[in-house]
Amino acid sequence: MMQIFMPLNFLGFVYREIKGSLTNIENMFDLLAQPTAIKEQSDPQSLVLRQGAVRFDNVCFSYGKGREIIKNLSFSIAGGKKVAIVGPSGAGKSTLTKLLYRFYDIESGSIQIDGQNISTLTIDSLRKQIGIVPQDTVLFNNSILENVRYGDLEATDEQVIQAINDAQLGDFVAALPKGVQTEVGERGLKLSGGEKQRVAIARTLLKNSAIFIFDEATSSLDSHNEAQIMNTLKSVSKGHTTLVIAHRLSTVVDADEIILLANGELAERGNHQQLLALNGQYAKLWHAQSHTKGDI
Ligand code: ATP
Repeated sequence: MMQIFMPLNFLGFVYREIKGSLTNIENMFDLLAQPTAIKEQSDPQSLVLRQGAVRFDNVCFSYGKGREIIKNLSFSIAGGKKVAIVGPSGAGKSTLTKLLYRFYDIESGSIQIDGQNISTLTIDSLRKQIGIVPQDTVLFNNSILENVRYGDLEATDEQVIQAINDAQLGDFVAALPKGVQTEVGERGLKLSGGEKQRVAIARTLLKNSAIFIFDEATSSLDSHNEAQIMNTLKSVSKGHTTLVIAHRLSTVVDADEIILLANGELAERGNHQQLLALNGQYAKLWHAQSHTKGDI
């Protein structure tokens, strides 16, 4: 069972065709039955986790023949640090997270976690250490408690409630007539974009993986909600290696490193101050967004 539920958060991210991010468990099993493009090598190893350091080394990737989506990209995230990927729509930001989760194999180069090439690892041991908070969260027709428990089916009620509180969903849930037993999904309460992201954060906390991927929501959150979610994420991701796919530059100011991706290539890198001082594309986007507060 655990194997089936491990990539749940990722489903909302990969299968955006799930309309409105609400689904039945039956549809989910159909989706999980889809063959994946990748295979384990003949003698795969279990990931030996140390600091949770992530490294992309000269990675090239295309979805099909012809168009290279990621071009010779190298960057690393030290264990416990936060790297943000920014860049225009279609630059390849979300693709990077799919590659780290090994939904696709790369063409050349390598992706490593703590020095171990992910293509040599068992898929289970790799994905166990990656928790994803997607843009669109899949909710089942079930209680909030059970929806969060999908992060770890063996978690006790107390652990699930702790995760709900840590994801700062506790006050919202407490105000509902049936509390954590309130049904959500198509046949129950419809959650807002921000509330759904908190459910995803709570699931990820329960999973307790070393690496967090946060794919920032674009349109479903207003800037106030977005700032609050980022605050929650900041507090819960302490000690976890974090990769943020950012659409709004205001949310990446505190990242240890920001990578600006353009057409699948690394265009600029540095922290916020360094990139402003560089006075290049990032600085341009920053100044444009300071006026519009919009997405890039
Ligand atoms: P956004 O900010 O709009 O989410 P992004 O920077 O995350 O964009 P990606 O989603 O990584 O960009 O997409 C990069 C490119 O790869 C785009 O041109 C996209 O059309 C293409 N692409 C993404 N997924 C697939 C797929 N499954 N098959 C073929 N091409 C794809």
